[in-house]
Amino acid sequence: ADDVALDPWGSSTVSDYRKLFEEFGIEEFDEVLDEVPNPHYLMRRGVIFGHRDYRPVLDAMRNGDDFAVLSGFMPTGDPHIGHKLVFDEIIWHQQQGGDAYGLIADMEAHSARGIPWDEINEHSRDYLLSLIALGFDPEAGELYRQSDNDRLQRLAFELGGKANFSEFQSIYGFDGETNVSHMQSVVTQMADILYPQLDDPKPTVIPVGPDQDPHVRFARDLATRMRFFKVTEAFASFELADAERPLVAAAHDAREEYAEDADVPRCGEAAEWLADADLDAAGVLVAESVRESAVEKLENAGMEPLRPRIRFFARQATDEAFEALIEDIEGEKRRYDQHIDAFDVGVDEAEELAREVEAHHGGYGFIPPSSIYHRFMTGLTGGKMSSSIPASHISLLDAPEEGYDKVKSATTGGRDTAEEQRELGGEADKCPVYELYAYLLTGDDDELAKEVYDECVGGERLCGGCKEQAATMMREFLEDHHEKREEAEEVLDSLDIDLET
Ligand code: SF4
Repeated sequence: ADDVALDPWGSSTVSDYRKLFEEFGIEEFDEVLDEVPNPHYLMRRGVIFGHRDYRPVLDAMRNGDDFAVLSGFMPTGDPHIGHKLVFDEIIWHQQQGGDAYGLIADMEAHSARGIPWDEINEHSRDYLLSLIALGFDPEAGELYRQSDNDRLQRLAFELGGKANFSEFQSIYGFDGETNVSHMQSVVTQMADILYPQLDDPKPTVIPVGPDQDPHVRFARDLATRMRFFKVTEAFASFELADAERPLVAAAHDAREEYAEDADVPRCGEAAEWLADADLDAAGVLVAESVRESAVEKLENAGMEPLRPRIRFFARQATDEAFEALIEDIEGEKRRYDQHIDAFDVGVDEAEELAREVEAHHGGYGFIPPSSIYHRFMTGLTGGKMSSSIPASHISLLDAPEEGYDKVKSATTGGRDTAEEQRELGGEADKCPVYELYAYLLTGDDDELAKEVYDECVGGERLCGGCKEQAATMMREFLEDHHEKREEAEEVLDSLDIDLET
């Protein structure tokens, strides 16, 4: 299972994306695709394959409410076509009405990778130029570098107060040799992820590769910790009206009672309690503490314990008895579903109230950030696309002719001979050149992407011509991108970002 270890600074590839769903609880993007207004082609083509809690962002998008998108770039080398996926994701969310943030993770590059500051400055500039050239609107959004953002640093300091070394050990494998700046860069990253919510809590999506998932999980956890820190502080502060105190006490009692022994009927009761209660911020304590075990147990009750019964009856019972049983089960399942719904409504209301109380008491009210995950591009030479292997990627700074040449020398999913290719078809799913078409070259043109695929697997397309076409398109893309980068120079210089020191 080494190949699915999620290490933000490692070089592991992900060979089996399904494991990410099973082992890490990343959800399949397909399940929310229908809810996305006007989905990006990377979503339509399954390049964006997973998400964590993306629905609140989609709801905000559809309802015209505030939401944000943020992602960061570690300036350790030239930006390449793999990074372009993230640029595109940020830009698309900005175009859908989100507050967009692009940040330069210079502290991380320096502390985790040891990149000298002058190189960091140069690479930072290149990242930002490409991001703007591809369509990021810096007037409407915000670009910053970590080391130069005071509000971010203050937030990082506070978040650091909620994290401890043993978590760094278990999440990131830090040990006695890990330098302290690296740890500081981690809390800075946590602050990055929550930064869009500093003024106003809002659903926020972080587009990343799956190797960055540990950061997302940790940030979600810290968001919650910051929140409860503030809410419980508020309760303790005697600033609440006297009338609210019995409710706080009741909440604590109920928490004891339900959280520790949340079996199914009790979860149902808890749900009813929450639905009926005139929910106050205190309700959030109960809601959060039972939510996880409740939902899990309700789901299990709907499925797992009943399966052996189904099998038993299937063997022994008459058809009628079997049907009666199924009806019975479905009735129970509906009942459970209702409980879950009631429960979720209760939790939503409680969360809303908790945020209000917090805002009132000067807290953050963070909403746990959401994330979406894209597939890694395969290197042009096979294997992983890597910044440190120039032939494996096309840099956004490569001369157009160089890009052309790299595509021409890429490995393919083609067969050994043209004859075989005509007979068996090519293996587009294993072909880095096909990836170039699907991830970048065909843009929004689904028909063209499909045509390349169908012709390849149908044996009508041979690799020589296919690469020539892709190489030419790549040359055009780079020519156009370089022109736009030049135009972006002036825009970047007009922004208040220090790229010199
Ligand atoms: Fe790849 Fe094109 Fe060859 Fe198919 S025909 S294997 S897509 S290079």
